[in-house]
Amino acid sequence: QCITHCPVGALRERNDTDIVLDALSDPEKVVMVQFAPAVRVAWGEKVGMHRVEQTTGKLVAALKQIGFDYVFDTVYSADMTIMEEGSEFIERLKHRDDYSWPMFTSCCPGWLRFVKSEFPDYVQNLSTAKSPQQMFGALGKTYMAEKLGIDPSKIFAVSIMPCTAKKYECDVEEVNDSGFKDVDVVITTRELDNMIMADGINAENLPEASFDDFFGEGTGAGVIFGATGGVMEAALRSAYFLLTGENPTADAFKNVRGMDGWKEATFTVAGAKVRVAVASGLGNARRLLTAIDAGEVEYDFVEIMACPGGCSGGGGQPITDGTEMACVRGEELYNIDSTQPIRFSHENPSVRMTYEEYLGAPMSHRAHELLHTNVEAWNLLPKFHTSYKQDNVED
Ligand code: SF4
Repeated sequence: QCITHCPVGALRERNDTDIVLDALSDPEKVVMVQFAPAVRVAWGEKVGMHRVEQTTGKLVAALKQIGFDYVFDTVYSADMTIMEEGSEFIERLKHRDDYSWPMFTSCCPGWLRFVKSEFPDYVQNLSTAKSPQQMFGALGKTYMAEKLGIDPSKIFAVSIMPCTAKKYECDVEEVNDSGFKDVDVVITTRELDNMIMADGINAENLPEASFDDFFGEGTGAGVIFGATGGVMEAALRSAYFLLTGENPTADAFKNVRGMDGWKEATFTVAGAKVRVAVASGLGNARRLLTAIDAGEVEYDFVEIMACPGGCSGGGGQPITDGTEMACVRGEELYNIDSTQPIRFSHENPSVRMTYEEYLGAPMSHRAHELLHTNVEAWNLLPKFHTSYKQDNVED
């Protein structure tokens, strides 16, 4: 049910693969691609791969074979989002009276459109942190371009997402801060699969390949962004560290996992009680917001994802007739997390390097310029329409 539901109302999915192919065939362009946490646990379904064979390394290899110059992991910028959003939450806790509560996560554009149109009084409660996709785009055409010595005007940034709403998000003027269009085009997991099949790539037999340097490293915390509750759990792992100077056990906040549409938990962090809630699916979001508005529930931090089960069940993921895959994919993301050598965003070496070399610290002036947005200024309809082709839709 959720995999055919598009929270921004796009009943037919736009097909942008021709735009990607045009860029790949342009010798003047340096084409980089990022792919989201939830893509790695779904991309092989449509191309007929067994679940255990659909590895992240084989996807990197397939993208290299298609011709991308650089292949990066959105998990890196999910870790950046955690650093910024976790720091923002702590800042709000320190100045509690200056803010409206609870603080809401802001990485799901379907949820943002929903709250802006249905509960506008709560827009001020949204974190100002941009989504991992847009943080990646902004850093790609500034910091990374500088580091690699590439003219940012020549970079063409492609994003592979489980999500049709991300096509809308990359066009929103207020989340483009590099001086260029931070992410040039978004394709869904289904469009990616079409490209793999059109190229005749035998993905099963590809050797495992590694992400390109600099933005290649992600953590288990960034991986679980793709499952409902994952953003909350990852943020709490790092918020705990930022408040106490010590890591919690990596699974300390696992009570927010699972497919329930509205979950809540209370944790003690640095001696303070933190009341959290996690909702997925816009029906659950509406029930939760209505209850907050009526004073029936009180929380400090709330994660909301528009798609039931979170991004693993996103509207751009492969469709399996009659079967809901969000739960299976979500469990796989938690399995990946449990086997990662690093499970805390603040321990990601690429994240540390980014702050040391470029941003200074979370919430710094430069971090605000590139990684945060004024959500209240967002237009419901984007001003960029550079990639839109009205007559180019997928059946
Ligand atoms: Fe997109 Fe994820 Fe939000 Fe669904 S939950 S609209 S896939 S960002």
